Amino acid sequence: METLLLWLFYISSLYAFIPGLITRIFGFRVFRRGVSDDTFALTFDDGPDPVYTPKLLDLLKRYDAKATFFVVGSNAEKHPDLIKRMHEEGHLIGSHNYVHKTNWLMGPAAVKKQIQKTSNIIQEVTGLKTNYYRPPWGIVNLFDFAKRDNTQIVLWSAMFSDWRERIGSDRLTERMMKKLRGGEVFLLHDCGSTLGANSGAPGEMLIALDRILQEAEKRNLRSIRVDELIRTSESVKNLASSDGKVTPVGPKRLSWAKRCVVFLWLLWEKIFHLLFQLQTANKEDPFLHFRIRPYHGDPVEMIGGNMLRGGDKVMELHFDNKKLFEIGTRSKSPVQLAIKMVRSMEKELPKLAKIVVDHHELHEVKALYGVSMINRGPEQFGFTVTDLPKGWFAKSSQWYLKFLLRVIHPDGGSRLKQSAEHMIPKLIVMPVDYLVTQYLTDGSHRKMAGKQENEVVEEEAVLSATIPCP
Ligand SMILES: [Zn+2]
Repeated sequence: METLLLWLFYISSLYAFIPGLITRIFGFRVFRRGVSDDTFALTFDDGPDPVYTPKLLDLLKRYDAKATFFVVGSNAEKHPDLIKRMHEEGHLIGSHNYVHKTNWLMGPAAVKKQIQKTSNIIQEVTGLKTNYYRPPWGIVNLFDFAKRDNTQIVLWSAMFSDWRERIGSDRLTERMMKKLRGGEVFLLHDCGSTLGANSGAPGEMLIALDRILQEAEKRNLRSIRVDELIRTSESVKNLASSDGKVTPVGPKRLSWAKRCVVFLWLLWEKIFHLLFQLQTANKEDPFLHFRIRPYHGDPVEMIGGNMLRGGDKVMELHFDNKKLFEIGTRSKSPVQLAIKMVRSMEKELPKLAKIVVDHHELHEVKALYGVSMINRGPEQFGFTVTDLPKGWFAKSSQWYLKFLLRVIHPDGGSRLKQSAEHMIPKLIVMPVDYLVTQYLTDGSHRKMAGKQENEVVEEEAVLSATIPCP
């Protein structure tokens, strides 16, 4: 029984999972899919590439298809001729940062700079400012400027792992065929030199795309630019709601069903706290709760070579669901949400460190321990992320996640399925010694983050295998 309750709780209170869920519930200003019968949007990330982009442009021209290119600024700088050609041939150009780096590791000012720099490069060639942005790895996190700058964030409704060469053009064609219908936003890549991608992959993509465009032509389905798809979709929606109702501006009100789920979720947390007698790190402003328990599982090597072994005492962490929910509802954008999460975590870790030092009975505790749904984010604080033991826990938690997504977002079932498959619960651990030295003494963990940059980059390559977009 305890294990069952535990895993239910884990899955419903996961650090990185919650922001994603909340952005989905509240639908921040992110465009993922359009409403149209006869048009869809092809989007290409990471280019321009001197080999594949010209071939792609030729192909698009042959079918009179229009597309959207989310270019990496440093690549655009090297190949202004390709940017010029995209523009002259009627395609839309958006920004995909100056370097292909995740926004998780940058502050809002740095992200803004990345976008502005790229935007300037595009403007120099085309004379036009672009407002369209897709964050690398598709991680909807740090774009606070969304409102200020009128930046339109564009994600996708269909992706195909086309950055992996071994998928092959046949399998890719098959996958793309399944999604070939009006309103879809296809995510594809015309450059294979990004970390995590295979250099020959765009070659396979081009073969598949040729077949898809042929089929689209047969079905009278046209590929249009994302800005056009947004416009078309809006006019369709306006027509549909022209029965006098005014669409409210501002945060969407939660439906009765969603409020019910949220209520049960929060109630569940209360029950859990009573059952397992969780302690709270900061009682005035609860964000992290914990309990002490022995670790069961395979030995894990943590940061600094420290080993965590079965029987060692660990401080099991739980996030405060109510707090997470509040942060979620009060954030105006996913960026703000992510920043608030990171800031709260930064504030909380020194408090945890102080609790460990001040409480004699906690001196035996070897490590902080938790379960996280997304293996990105925790490591910037010094956590080691490893696999959970394979078996029913991992399986059932994934099943539960899918269920939860469907309940909370009934119309998004199919859209969420893909990302749910990529959300695999992982174990996160950090030695208590590290916690104390890094967070208690002088708050020097920021310097650490700098030192780890290389490791983080390497990690991105590994992660690209598990998350949506390289
Ligand atoms: Zn990318």
